[in-house]
Amino acid sequence: MSTPISRRAFVGTLGLAGGATLLDSLVARAGAATQPRPETAGPILLNSNENPYGPSPKALAAIAAANSLANRYPDDAEDAMRAAIAKHHGVSPEQVVLGCGSSEILQIADLAFTGPGRKVVAAEPTFEAVLQYAKVLRAEPVTVPLTPEFRHDLAKMAAACQAGAGLVYVCNPNNPTGTIVSGDELAGFAGRVPAATTILVDEAYFHFVGDPSYRTAIELIAKHPNVVVARTFSKIYGMAGLRLGYAVGSKERIREMAKYATFSNANAAVLAAALASLSDPDLVPRERALLNDTRRGLVTEMTRQGRRVIASHTNFVMIDVGGDVKPVIQGFRDRNILVGRKFPSLASWLRVTIGTPDEVNAFVAALQEIVPAKVAA
Ligand code: PLP
Repeated sequence: MSTPISRRAFVGTLGLAGGATLLDSLVARAGAATQPRPETAGPILLNSNENPYGPSPKALAAIAAANSLANRYPDDAEDAMRAAIAKHHGVSPEQVVLGCGSSEILQIADLAFTGPGRKVVAAEPTFEAVLQYAKVLRAEPVTVPLTPEFRHDLAKMAAACQAGAGLVYVCNPNNPTGTIVSGDELAGFAGRVPAATTILVDEAYFHFVGDPSYRTAIELIAKHPNVVVARTFSKIYGMAGLRLGYAVGSKERIREMAKYATFSNANAAVLAAALASLSDPDLVPRERALLNDTRRGLVTEMTRQGRRVIASHTNFVMIDVGGDVKPVIQGFRDRNILVGRKFPSLASWLRVTIGTPDEVNAFVAALQEIVPAKVAA
Protein backbone atom coordinates (compact mmCIF):
# COMPACT_ATOMS: atom_id res chain seq x y z
CA MET A 1 0.00 0.00 0.00
CA SER A 2 1.41 3.39 -0.86
CA THR A 3 1.75 6.17 1.68
CA PRO A 4 -1.53 7.91 2.51
CA ILE A 5 -1.69 11.18 0.63
CA SER A 6 -1.08 14.29 2.75
CA ARG A 7 -3.40 17.30 2.79
CA ARG A 8 -0.69 19.67 1.52
CA ALA A 9 -0.11 17.57 -1.56
CA PHE A 10 -3.57 18.42 -2.84
CA VAL A 11 -3.75 22.12 -2.19
CA GLY A 12 -4.25 23.58 -5.62
CA THR A 13 -5.35 20.26 -7.10
CA LEU A 14 -8.63 21.80 -8.08
CA GLY A 15 -6.76 24.46 -9.98
CA LEU A 16 -7.32 27.32 -7.51
CA ALA A 17 -4.75 29.97 -6.70
CA GLY A 18 -3.23 31.08 -3.40
CA GLY A 19 -3.01 27.79 -1.54
CA ALA A 20 -6.70 27.84 -0.57
CA THR A 21 -8.89 25.64 -2.71
CA LEU A 22 -12.48 26.21 -3.70
CA LEU A 23 -13.26 23.33 -1.42
CA ASP A 24 -11.47 24.99 1.52
CA SER A 25 -13.72 27.99 1.18
CA LEU A 26 -16.78 25.76 1.07
CA VAL A 27 -15.79 24.13 4.34
CA ALA A 28 -15.27 27.50 5.96
CA ARG A 29 -18.66 28.70 4.74
CA ALA A 30 -20.43 25.60 5.99
CA GLY A 31 -19.69 26.50 9.60
CA ALA A 32 -19.04 24.45 12.69
CA ALA A 33 -22.06 22.20 12.32
CA THR A 34 -20.61 20.57 9.22
CA GLN A 35 -16.89 20.56 9.89
CA PRO A 36 -15.20 17.39 8.68
CA ARG A 37 -14.75 14.76 11.33
CA PRO A 38 -11.21 14.30 12.73
CA GLU A 39 -8.95 12.23 10.50
CA THR A 40 -8.88 8.55 11.33
CA ALA A 41 -6.45 5.88 10.28
CA GLY A 42 -9.13 4.16 8.17
CA PRO A 43 -9.54 4.49 4.41
CA ILE A 44 -11.26 7.45 2.77
CA LEU A 45 -14.77 6.20 2.11
CA LEU A 46 -16.06 7.41 -1.25
CA ASN A 47 -17.79 4.13 -2.09
CA SER A 48 -21.31 4.05 -0.64
CA ASN A 49 -22.83 7.49 -1.29
CA GLU A 50 -22.89 8.35 2.41
CA ASN A 51 -22.83 11.86 3.83
CA PRO A 52 -19.33 12.38 5.30
CA TYR A 53 -20.58 14.93 7.83
CA GLY A 54 -22.84 12.48 9.67
CA PRO A 55 -26.03 13.24 11.60
CA SER A 56 -26.76 16.88 12.48
CA PRO A 57 -25.88 18.14 15.99
CA LYS A 58 -29.62 18.16 16.83
CA ALA A 59 -29.94 14.52 15.75
CA LEU A 60 -26.90 13.55 17.85
CA ALA A 61 -28.41 15.29 20.89
CA ALA A 62 -31.69 13.44 20.29
CA ILE A 63 -29.83 10.11 20.16
CA ALA A 64 -28.18 10.86 23.51
CA ALA A 65 -31.56 11.75 25.01
CA ALA A 66 -33.01 8.48 23.70
CA ASN A 67 -30.62 6.44 25.88
CA SER A 68 -33.23 6.36 28.62
CA LEU A 69 -35.67 4.66 26.21
CA ALA A 70 -33.36 1.78 25.30
CA ASN A 71 -35.22 -0.80 27.42
CA ARG A 72 -38.66 -0.01 25.90
CA TYR A 73 -40.17 -1.02 22.56
CA PRO A 74 -40.42 2.12 20.47
CA ASP A 75 -44.13 1.85 19.57
CA ASP A 76 -45.03 5.42 20.49
CA ALA A 77 -41.97 6.81 18.71
CA GLU A 78 -42.90 4.82 15.58
CA ASP A 79 -46.38 6.32 15.62
CA ALA A 80 -44.92 9.80 16.13
CA MET A 81 -42.49 9.24 13.26
CA ARG A 82 -45.18 8.08 10.85
CA ALA A 83 -47.31 11.07 11.86
CA ALA A 84 -44.39 13.45 11.31
CA ILE A 85 -43.57 11.94 7.89
CA ALA A 86 -47.27 12.08 6.92
CA LYS A 87 -47.46 15.75 7.92
CA HIS A 88 -44.21 16.50 6.07
CA HIS A 89 -45.65 15.07 2.84
CA GLY A 90 -49.30 16.10 3.29
CA VAL A 91 -50.63 12.52 3.46
CA SER A 92 -52.24 10.44 6.24
CA PRO A 93 -50.21 8.20 8.61
CA GLU A 94 -51.89 5.13 7.05
CA GLN A 95 -50.06 6.06 3.85
CA VAL A 96 -46.63 5.62 5.49
CA VAL A 97 -44.67 2.48 6.36
CA LEU A 98 -41.25 2.56 8.04
CA GLY A 99 -38.33 0.36 7.06
CA CYS A 100 -34.91 -0.61 8.44
CA GLY A 101 -33.35 1.69 5.86
CA SER A 102 -35.06 2.05 2.51
CA SER A 103 -33.48 -1.34 1.73
CA GLU A 104 -36.26 -2.96 3.78
CA ILE A 105 -38.80 -0.87 1.86
CA LEU A 106 -37.44 -2.26 -1.44
CA GLN A 107 -37.54 -5.77 -0.02
CA ILE A 108 -41.12 -5.55 1.26
CA ALA A 109 -42.24 -4.04 -2.05
CA ASP A 110 -40.90 -7.18 -3.75
CA LEU A 111 -42.57 -9.40 -1.15
CA ALA A 112 -45.90 -7.63 -1.54
CA PHE A 113 -46.03 -7.15 -5.31
CA THR A 114 -43.94 -9.89 -6.94
CA GLY A 115 -43.46 -13.60 -6.50
CA PRO A 116 -42.52 -16.72 -8.46
CA GLY A 117 -42.85 -16.04 -12.18
CA ARG A 118 -44.03 -12.43 -11.78
CA LYS A 119 -42.13 -9.81 -13.73
CA VAL A 120 -40.07 -7.06 -12.07
CA VAL A 121 -39.00 -4.32 -14.49
CA ALA A 122 -35.96 -2.12 -13.78
CA ALA A 123 -33.30 -0.13 -15.62
CA GLU A 124 -29.77 -1.40 -16.27
CA PRO A 125 -27.74 -0.24 -14.48
CA THR A 126 -29.65 0.84 -11.41
CA PHE A 127 -29.58 0.23 -7.65
CA GLU A 128 -29.75 -3.54 -7.54
CA ALA A 129 -31.63 -4.35 -4.29
CA VAL A 130 -35.06 -4.69 -5.92
CA LEU A 131 -33.73 -7.11 -8.54
CA GLN A 132 -31.70 -9.08 -6.00
CA TYR A 133 -34.65 -9.60 -3.64
CA ALA A 134 -36.83 -10.41 -6.66
CA LYS A 135 -34.43 -13.19 -7.68
CA VAL A 136 -34.65 -14.73 -4.21
CA LEU A 137 -38.43 -14.72 -4.62
CA ARG A 138 -38.01 -16.43 -8.02
CA ALA A 139 -39.67 -13.49 -9.72
CA GLU A 140 -38.67 -12.75 -13.31
CA PRO A 141 -36.32 -9.76 -13.69
CA VAL A 142 -36.73 -7.70 -16.87
CA THR A 143 -33.99 -5.11 -17.36
CA VAL A 144 -34.19 -2.18 -19.76
CA PRO A 145 -30.87 -0.50 -20.69
CA LEU A 146 -30.54 3.22 -19.97
CA THR A 147 -30.71 5.55 -22.97
CA PRO A 148 -27.43 6.75 -24.56
CA GLU A 149 -27.79 9.79 -22.27
CA PHE A 150 -27.70 7.41 -19.25
CA ARG A 151 -31.36 8.09 -18.41
CA HIS A 152 -34.25 5.72 -17.74
CA ASP A 153 -35.88 4.56 -21.00
CA LEU A 154 -39.43 5.07 -19.72
CA ALA A 155 -41.11 4.19 -23.05
CA LYS A 156 -39.45 0.76 -23.10
CA MET A 157 -40.02 0.24 -19.38
CA ALA A 158 -43.75 1.02 -19.75
CA ALA A 159 -43.93 -1.39 -22.70
CA ALA A 160 -42.25 -4.10 -20.60
CA CYS A 161 -45.01 -3.68 -17.97
CA GLN A 162 -47.83 -4.40 -20.39
CA ALA A 163 -47.26 -8.16 -20.08
CA GLY A 164 -48.47 -7.97 -16.47
CA ALA A 165 -45.45 -6.99 -14.37
CA GLY A 166 -45.95 -6.99 -10.60
CA LEU A 167 -43.49 -4.16 -10.00
CA VAL A 168 -41.56 -1.56 -11.97
CA TYR A 169 -38.67 0.20 -10.23
CA VAL A 170 -37.70 3.77 -11.12
CA CYS A 171 -34.65 5.01 -9.23
CA ASN A 172 -34.94 8.81 -9.42
CA PRO A 173 -32.22 10.09 -9.33
CA ASN A 174 -30.68 6.88 -10.60
CA ASN A 175 -27.84 5.18 -8.80
CA PRO A 176 -25.16 4.83 -10.25
CA THR A 177 -25.59 7.48 -12.99
CA GLY A 178 -27.06 10.37 -10.97
CA THR A 179 -29.48 11.17 -13.81
CA ILE A 180 -33.11 12.17 -13.28
CA VAL A 181 -36.57 11.63 -14.71
CA SER A 182 -38.60 14.87 -14.80
CA GLY A 183 -41.93 15.27 -13.02
CA ASP A 184 -43.77 15.43 -16.36
CA GLU A 185 -42.00 12.34 -17.71
CA LEU A 186 -42.92 10.39 -14.60
CA ALA A 187 -46.55 11.53 -14.74
CA GLY A 188 -46.75 10.37 -18.39
CA PHE A 189 -45.16 7.05 -17.43
CA ALA A 190 -47.65 6.51 -14.57
CA GLY A 191 -50.45 7.04 -17.10
CA ARG A 192 -49.08 4.28 -19.36
CA VAL A 193 -48.26 1.57 -16.78
CA PRO A 194 -51.16 -0.81 -16.00
CA ALA A 195 -52.93 -0.04 -12.72
CA ALA A 196 -52.16 -3.54 -11.43
CA THR A 197 -48.39 -2.93 -11.68
CA THR A 198 -46.90 -1.14 -8.67
CA ILE A 199 -44.59 1.71 -9.67
CA LEU A 200 -41.88 1.94 -7.02
CA VAL A 201 -40.05 5.27 -7.26
CA ASP A 202 -36.87 5.34 -5.19
CA GLU A 203 -36.09 8.92 -4.14
CA ALA A 204 -33.06 8.15 -1.94
CA TYR A 205 -31.20 11.15 -3.46
CA PHE A 206 -34.24 13.44 -3.79
CA HIS A 207 -32.80 16.26 -1.67
CA PHE A 208 -29.71 16.81 -3.82
CA VAL A 209 -31.69 17.68 -6.97
CA GLY A 210 -31.96 21.34 -7.92
CA ASP A 211 -33.35 20.92 -11.43
CA PRO A 212 -36.74 22.67 -11.69
CA SER A 213 -38.21 19.91 -13.89
CA TYR A 214 -37.77 17.39 -11.08
CA ARG A 215 -40.65 16.67 -8.66
CA THR A 216 -41.42 14.05 -6.08
CA ALA A 217 -43.66 11.20 -7.27
CA ILE A 218 -45.62 11.53 -4.03
CA GLU A 219 -47.78 14.06 -5.87
CA LEU A 220 -48.84 11.31 -8.32
CA ILE A 221 -50.27 8.97 -5.66
CA ALA A 222 -53.72 10.58 -5.47
CA LYS A 223 -54.26 10.04 -9.22
CA HIS A 224 -52.24 6.82 -9.52
CA PRO A 225 -52.70 4.70 -6.37
CA ASN A 226 -50.20 2.17 -7.79
CA VAL A 227 -47.33 4.65 -7.18
CA VAL A 228 -45.19 4.00 -4.07
CA VAL A 229 -42.29 6.28 -3.14
CA ALA A 230 -39.26 5.15 -1.10
CA ARG A 231 -37.20 7.62 0.94
CA THR A 232 -34.26 7.24 3.32
CA PHE A 233 -32.50 9.00 6.19
CA SER A 234 -29.19 7.48 5.01
CA LYS A 235 -28.15 10.11 2.48
CA ILE A 236 -28.64 13.85 3.05
CA TYR A 237 -29.58 13.24 6.71
CA GLY A 238 -26.26 11.44 7.28
CA MET A 239 -27.68 8.45 9.14
CA ALA A 240 -26.71 5.42 7.02
CA GLY A 241 -25.43 3.58 10.07
CA LEU A 242 -28.60 4.15 12.07
CA ARG A 243 -31.01 2.65 9.49
CA LEU A 244 -34.32 4.30 8.74
CA GLY A 245 -36.28 4.53 5.52
CA TYR A 246 -39.95 4.76 4.65
CA ALA A 247 -42.47 4.43 1.88
CA VAL A 248 -45.39 6.69 1.03
CA GLY A 249 -48.26 5.32 -1.06
CA SER A 250 -51.98 4.75 -1.20
CA LYS A 251 -53.48 3.19 1.94
CA GLU A 252 -54.08 -0.08 0.04
CA ARG A 253 -50.51 -0.43 -1.27
CA ILE A 254 -48.98 0.54 2.09
CA ARG A 255 -51.23 -1.94 3.94
CA GLU A 256 -49.97 -4.70 1.61
CA MET A 257 -46.34 -3.78 2.21
CA ALA A 258 -46.71 -3.37 5.99
CA LYS A 259 -47.71 -7.04 6.31
CA TYR A 260 -44.15 -8.00 5.41
CA ALA A 261 -42.25 -5.43 7.51
CA THR A 262 -40.36 -6.66 10.58
CA PHE A 263 -42.05 -5.79 13.90
CA SER A 264 -40.37 -2.75 15.52
CA ASN A 265 -38.02 -2.36 12.56
CA ALA A 266 -37.02 1.17 13.61
CA ASN A 267 -35.03 1.55 16.82
CA ALA A 268 -35.50 4.19 19.51
CA ALA A 269 -32.25 6.01 18.70
CA VAL A 270 -32.88 6.41 14.97
CA LEU A 271 -36.48 7.45 15.53
CA ALA A 272 -35.35 10.22 17.89
CA ALA A 273 -32.65 11.33 15.47
CA ALA A 274 -34.96 11.28 12.45
CA LEU A 275 -37.69 13.22 14.24
CA ALA A 276 -35.15 15.88 15.23
CA SER A 277 -33.81 16.00 11.66
CA LEU A 278 -37.19 16.29 10.00
CA SER A 279 -38.10 19.26 12.19
CA ASP A 280 -34.78 21.04 11.54
CA PRO A 281 -35.40 23.48 8.66
CA ASP A 282 -31.69 24.24 8.21
CA LEU A 283 -30.40 20.69 7.78
CA VAL A 284 -31.35 19.88 4.19
CA PRO A 285 -30.41 23.25 2.62
CA ARG A 286 -27.08 23.26 4.49
CA GLU A 287 -26.05 19.72 3.51
CA ARG A 288 -27.31 20.15 -0.05
CA ALA A 289 -25.33 23.35 -0.58
CA LEU A 290 -22.18 21.89 0.91
CA LEU A 291 -22.20 18.59 -0.97
CA ASN A 292 -23.50 19.97 -4.26
CA ASP A 293 -20.87 22.72 -4.21
CA THR A 294 -18.17 20.12 -3.61
CA ARG A 295 -19.58 18.03 -6.47
CA ARG A 296 -19.54 21.04 -8.79
CA GLY A 297 -15.89 21.69 -7.85
CA LEU A 298 -15.00 18.09 -8.69
CA VAL A 299 -16.92 18.11 -11.98
CA THR A 300 -15.29 21.41 -13.01
CA GLU A 301 -11.87 19.96 -12.35
CA MET A 302 -12.60 16.67 -14.13
CA THR A 303 -13.89 18.57 -17.16
CA ARG A 304 -10.85 20.84 -17.13
CA GLN A 305 -8.69 17.71 -17.20
CA GLY A 306 -10.55 16.54 -20.32
CA ARG A 307 -12.35 13.66 -18.59
CA ARG A 308 -15.93 12.63 -19.42
CA VAL A 309 -18.39 12.94 -16.55
CA ILE A 310 -22.09 12.04 -16.41
CA ALA A 311 -23.99 15.15 -15.26
CA SER A 312 -25.12 14.14 -11.78
CA HIS A 313 -27.93 15.46 -9.58
CA THR A 314 -26.67 13.58 -6.50
CA ASN A 315 -23.83 13.18 -4.01
CA PHE A 316 -21.91 10.92 -6.39
CA VAL A 317 -20.47 11.25 -9.88
CA MET A 318 -19.55 8.83 -12.67
CA ILE A 319 -16.21 9.52 -14.36
CA ASP A 320 -15.01 7.74 -17.51
CA VAL A 321 -11.56 6.25 -16.92
CA GLY A 322 -11.20 5.20 -20.57
CA GLY A 323 -10.74 1.46 -19.93
CA ASP A 324 -11.70 -1.30 -17.51
CA VAL A 325 -12.47 0.36 -14.18
CA LYS A 326 -11.50 -2.69 -12.10
CA PRO A 327 -7.73 -2.01 -11.88
CA VAL A 328 -8.50 1.66 -11.27
CA ILE A 329 -10.67 0.74 -8.27
CA GLN A 330 -7.76 -1.40 -7.03
CA GLY A 331 -5.37 1.52 -7.58
CA PHE A 332 -7.50 3.65 -5.27
CA ARG A 333 -7.67 0.83 -2.72
CA ASP A 334 -3.86 0.67 -2.75
CA ARG A 335 -3.88 4.36 -1.85
CA ASN A 336 -6.33 3.85 1.02
CA ILE A 337 -9.31 5.28 -0.85
CA LEU A 338 -12.46 3.24 -1.46
CA VAL A 339 -14.55 4.15 -4.52
CA GLY A 340 -17.69 2.63 -6.02
CA ARG A 341 -17.79 -0.88 -7.44
CA LYS A 342 -17.72 -1.75 -11.15
CA PHE A 343 -21.07 -1.69 -12.96
CA PRO A 344 -20.58 -4.24 -15.78
CA SER A 345 -22.81 -2.43 -18.29
CA LEU A 346 -20.78 0.77 -17.72
CA ALA A 347 -17.41 -0.95 -17.45
CA SER A 348 -15.17 2.09 -17.96
CA TRP A 349 -17.03 4.35 -15.54
CA LEU A 350 -15.93 5.00 -11.98
CA ARG A 351 -18.51 6.05 -9.39
CA VAL A 352 -17.14 8.34 -6.72
CA THR A 353 -19.11 9.62 -3.74
CA ILE A 354 -18.79 13.28 -2.76
CA GLY A 355 -16.89 13.41 0.52
CA THR A 356 -15.38 16.34 2.38
CA PRO A 357 -13.30 18.75 0.30
CA ASP A 358 -10.11 17.15 1.67
CA GLU A 359 -11.34 13.71 0.69
CA VAL A 360 -12.27 14.86 -2.79
CA ASN A 361 -8.89 16.54 -3.19
CA ALA A 362 -7.26 13.25 -2.20
CA PHE A 363 -9.39 11.47 -4.82
CA VAL A 364 -8.39 13.95 -7.53
CA ALA A 365 -4.68 13.57 -6.77
CA ALA A 366 -4.90 9.77 -6.68
CA LEU A 367 -6.84 9.65 -9.97
CA GLN A 368 -4.12 11.71 -11.58
CA GLU A 369 -1.56 9.11 -10.46
CA ILE A 370 -3.64 6.09 -11.52
CA VAL A 371 -5.09 7.43 -14.80
CA PRO A 372 -3.19 10.61 -15.76
CA ALA A 373 -5.34 13.23 -17.45
CA LYS A 374 -4.67 14.08 -21.09
CA VAL A 375 -4.66 17.78 -20.17
CA ALA A 376 -1.71 18.84 -17.95
CA ALA A 377 -2.73 19.30 -14.29
N1 PLP B 1 -31.88 3.24 -2.82
C1 PLP B 1 -30.81 3.73 -3.45
C2 PLP B 1 -31.00 4.34 -4.79
C3 PLP B 1 -29.55 3.66 -2.88
O1 PLP B 1 -28.50 4.13 -3.54
C4 PLP B 1 -29.41 3.08 -1.59
C5 PLP B 1 -28.10 2.98 -0.95
O2 PLP B 1 -27.08 3.32 -1.45
C6 PLP B 1 -30.56 2.59 -0.98
C7 PLP B 1 -31.78 2.69 -1.61
C8 PLP B 1 -30.52 1.90 0.35
O3 PLP B 1 -30.27 2.81 1.35
P1 PLP B 1 -30.72 2.57 2.84
O4 PLP B 1 -31.11 1.15 3.02
O5 PLP B 1 -29.53 2.93 3.64
O6 PLP B 1 -31.87 3.50 3.04
